[in-house]
Amino acid sequence: MNLFELTKSLMSIPSVSGDEEAVGFYLRDHLQSLGWKVELQAVSENQNNVIAYLNDAPGVWLSTHMDTVPPFIPPTEDDEKIYGRGACDAKGIIAAQITAAEQLRKEGMTDVGLLYNVEEERSSTGAKVVNNHPLAAKCKYMINGEPTDNDLAIGSKGTFRLNIKTTGKAAHSAYPEEGDSAIEKLLDILEDIRHTKFPHDDFFGETTVNIGTIDGGTALNVIPPKAEAGLAIRLTTKRAPIEEAVRSLVRGRGDLEILSCSEPVRMLQVDGFKQKVVRFTTDIPHMPNWGTPLLLGPGSILVAHTKDEFVLKKDLETAVQLYVDLVKKLLN
Ligand SMILES: [Zn+2]
Repeated sequence: MNLFELTKSLMSIPSVSGDEEAVGFYLRDHLQSLGWKVELQAVSENQNNVIAYLNDAPGVWLSTHMDTVPPFIPPTEDDEKIYGRGACDAKGIIAAQITAAEQLRKEGMTDVGLLYNVEEERSSTGAKVVNNHPLAAKCKYMINGEPTDNDLAIGSKGTFRLNIKTTGKAAHSAYPEEGDSAIEKLLDILEDIRHTKFPHDDFFGETTVNIGTIDGGTALNVIPPKAEAGLAIRLTTKRAPIEEAVRSLVRGRGDLEILSCSEPVRMLQVDGFKQKVVRFTTDIPHMPNWGTPLLLGPGSILVAHTKDEFVLKKDLETAVQLYVDLVKKLLN
């Protein structure tokens, strides 16, 4: 099956996070038919990571994730592009990696493994489970795929997700002195956060804060007893000083609930590849046992997660060559 057919076949199997079983079975069957040894690693009931190899302990691995964000958008194409969910994030990448691995194998290089995780788009559960797989110990380099426009990403920002919750006292809105507004407290905290200068890092760039959700109150004529806001902070430094800064802003006025965190990561720089820092987070921080990480993939993160997701066919072809070149460089 050629590169574009494989991309479309993978895209035509819905695999929104939590529903990756069918695409995992498809990958297992496809890779077995090509002669790969394939292991399904159970992550939860109906969720399996796919681990494939030719020799018993490959030194270089190509990896990405099988899940997508919702909603499922079936594949379509024209001469230049493949459109639909997973085109670049990340089913086109899976197809490019398999094509590259097959090309390397034809040239006699079998020291390559393929790893496809579940749940990257939610909480990297697949990556956290596979981190303890015995094959990790033999892995020297892990080339992860995410849409980087085929540039070699040498750093990725971290993501720190948290909720800020405030509580007050409900009362009739005509008698505000009888109540205590949770929403006004929350607005004060958020205003302070918006005016806080978070650190800049020369390598990773700016720390940015998105107030992504806001929720609270019960009715227009009731002083609100509860409010909460959800924040995603793109980290350019370790989490600890940022967490401390947010805690001190919230202290005495509300509560902080930590949802998840991945630290910023530096990846391997390789001569001869165009390099950049990316702002998004990947499975890489959750797989520290899998050797030195690298990150490269076709397509743009700016169309990933949108209804207009696509990948250029020529970028898929370029990615195959880049993966082949990168693996050869690492193996030598
Ligand atoms: Zn992705």
